[in-house]
Amino acid sequence: MRQATGRGLYIHVPFCHQRCHFCAFYLEIHHARAAEDFLSSLMTELRLYGEQRPFGTEPLQSIYFGGGTPTTLSSQQLATVLSAVRETFGLQEEAEIIVEAHPESVTQDSLSHLRQAGFTRMSFGAESMNPVELNRVGRPGSPMSTVQMVTAARQAGFTDLNLDLMYGLPGQSIESWAASLRQIVDLAPTHLSCYALTVEDGTALQTAVRRGTIAAPDETRQNEMEDLAEDVLTRAGFTRYEISNYCRPGFASRHNQLHWTGGDYIGLGPSAQSYVAGRRFGNVSDLSAYNASLRNGTFPVTESEQLTAADDACERLVFGLRLTEGIPLEETGALAYSTLTQKVDELIHDDMLEYQGERVRLTTRGRRYADTVAVALLASLEA
Ligand code: SF4
Repeated sequence: MRQATGRGLYIHVPFCHQRCHFCAFYLEIHHARAAEDFLSSLMTELRLYGEQRPFGTEPLQSIYFGGGTPTTLSSQQLATVLSAVRETFGLQEEAEIIVEAHPESVTQDSLSHLRQAGFTRMSFGAESMNPVELNRVGRPGSPMSTVQMVTAARQAGFTDLNLDLMYGLPGQSIESWAASLRQIVDLAPTHLSCYALTVEDGTALQTAVRRGTIAAPDETRQNEMEDLAEDVLTRAGFTRYEISNYCRPGFASRHNQLHWTGGDYIGLGPSAQSYVAGRRFGNVSDLSAYNASLRNGTFPVTESEQLTAADDACERLVFGLRLTEGIPLEETGALAYSTLTQKVDELIHDDMLEYQGERVRLTTRGRRYADTVAVALLASLEA
């Protein structure tokens, strides 16, 4: 079984003010009353974990407030949750505490309050610096609000700032992507996440693509945009440390790394996923059912699976391959499974994987097909 490298907590805040056309996350439209009920349930969920003590006395290395849009909750509500987490689990002195925000869901005051409460990184969903592109995918807000809130976050004392970007948006040209990247670099964030737009099932974007009112993302163009991002961001002093993530020296996300290096984490809130001591489990993706379960004093867990040692080794390998530096094969436990190591050899032969010293990692070509590589490795265990 994998050796855990840390302990983390994820909190899924299931509210947004409206749903972007491409978004398939579990969420509800924010209402004050629904938020109060959710917070009450979240406190109960925390209390249950406090009684169970799944991490023993080991404090958390990271907390990630995601969603949804966590900052649909007030800064006071978020501070209260953070304080309860601190009491329940304990935090390492240098713990990373990240909160995602839509730039128009925060103010100078709320940012100052969040910083004082102990949040260490603001993560803004910028997505694009072109207002027409944002509009086409039903993304509320403007690039100007991103610029203003990055400045406000700095004034509030945040020295660690992430911006999320998307490429391959409808109508987006290479030139406009380059312009977005330049403007983002000028904002001097410490961390960037760049994702290719994908058409998810059940989204308004999927309906528009089916009707032909919006063209599906062009894979070749997205590959060009990915290359351009790596080029521009590397020249600007960022390191691409994971398939979709770039950072300034010393600002790799500890929380993300926990996922990719086999650490244990607990997810709170509807639809949140957890991994503890080889068991993967997930909460119900329904706010009413989540609330009902916690009113009855029971965990809202609906799926749970104890991974076999082979599946665990394979997952560790798949996650470790997301890191640019890859992972030592020996560390994953994969060497004990011949079909898995044979598949690794085949993928090396196909120029998808390569060794660098002790580490196995994706090649440049393999990065383009990371999902295909993952599926091939998982399937090898069934052979
Ligand atoms: S703000 Fe984020 S979580 Fe909310 S709908 Fe848009 S993409 Fe989804």
